[in-house]
Amino acid sequence: DDLDQKIEEFIAMIEAKNPNEPEFLQAVREVAITVIPFIVTKKEYLGMKLLERMAEPERAIIFRVPWVDDKGIIQVNRGFRIQMNSAIGPYKGGIRFHPTVNLSVLKFLAFEQVFKNSLTTLPMGGGKGGSDFDPQGKSDMEVMRFCQAFMTEMCKHIGPQTDVPAGDIGVGAREIGYLFGQYKKIRNEFTGVLTGKGIAYGGSLIRPEATGYGVVYFCEQMLKTINETIKDKIFAVSGFGNVAWGVIKKVDELGGKVVTISGPDGYIYDKDGISGEKIDYLLELRAMGNNRAEDYLIKYPHAEFHAGKHPWEVKCDVAIPSATQNELNVEDAKKLVENGVLCVTEAANMPCDLEAINYFVDKKVLFSPGKASNAGGVATSGLEMTQNSIRLNWSSEEVDARLKEIMIGIHTACRNYGKEEDGYVNYVKGANIAGFVKVAEAMLAQGVV
Ligand code: GLU
Repeated sequence: DDLDQKIEEFIAMIEAKNPNEPEFLQAVREVAITVIPFIVTKKEYLGMKLLERMAEPERAIIFRVPWVDDKGIIQVNRGFRIQMNSAIGPYKGGIRFHPTVNLSVLKFLAFEQVFKNSLTTLPMGGGKGGSDFDPQGKSDMEVMRFCQAFMTEMCKHIGPQTDVPAGDIGVGAREIGYLFGQYKKIRNEFTGVLTGKGIAYGGSLIRPEATGYGVVYFCEQMLKTINETIKDKIFAVSGFGNVAWGVIKKVDELGGKVVTISGPDGYIYDKDGISGEKIDYLLELRAMGNNRAEDYLIKYPHAEFHAGKHPWEVKCDVAIPSATQNELNVEDAKKLVENGVLCVTEAANMPCDLEAINYFVDKKVLFSPGKASNAGGVATSGLEMTQNSIRLNWSSEEVDARLKEIMIGIHTACRNYGKEEDGYVNYVKGANIAGFVKVAEAMLAQGVV
């Protein structure tokens, strides 16, 4: 009908402006489908004009990153910082180092970040950055020189009141340390310009765990709506990086059982559950730098390894995709639903493709988009910024309590905007509309800027 046509026209217009950006279009489409029906009911949102502005980055910086490898050879990578929206605060969002990084991927991440950061209720705009640099197989000194070269350019565009980057895939505490050191050296300024810093130089307790913990707090709230809890549930988790690690720690603490992790090589099924010292082993695996889930067998040979497969074929109550974008398609979604999944909580950014999401929503499975359920990471980054500003450090209990409160708040916001007539909560719609409203109000107040 009329509305569908409006939506398709809007998407076609964005597509015409941004050819060859499939990930970005996917993210815009998801928002357009859920937000346009809401926008058309409110005159103040200027038809599609405000959403059109939101889909255009305020600024996209692309730069050369030249660096010297251990053999003395000059390498060159491409660096990016997408400053998507600063209506409600300084740009905020991670940096990703991965060979798949390109303009489309970072624009999708930056676009999602705007809504996510809005949902946290903290004053943070949205941005994202990164490089096609592959940290895999690089020496520590190569990673350092690369980070220094990357920051040499990026430092011209960021600052504690302007744009505050953090980690993402391929950027952890080590890389944040090197980036911070270079910023400080060039600008002669000790300031909270990055989050995810080490505790010794202004980092926040709980930040490493925050994304995963927040996901599980959110999942707990979702399960509560159907009178269920984490305890004794079987969890399928993908990935084994920082996010998966935090998820598994918290699920284990709350009495659930995680039976899978995965890497680019395939997935591990450990029917006894990944708990206790096995969780610490995930950190060791990551430190080994091979990015192979199969290496889990080195220490725990009783587990099964399924080469080249995703864990979504395993019977589970809750699925938590924690690896990367589009890692779960509609075939996977069908298998999960066949096997009786109760709840799918996204921990990565856009891990389920649009068809998979529609399938879950059609089947009335509890489903939450990453921009809502993984917002605990950036929320805790926001808390790190607060601590840096007041020059104080909060205890883990204090940070964790605030994180939990924020996640419960996001869940409530999603319910308020996402509840359908039959009582089913469409968290995708809820998150997109709730995230949109605050940014829209700020943009309208600030005029045509
Ligand atoms: N990269 C994370 C995310 O996707 C964290 C960003 C941040 O802490 O600024 O939200």
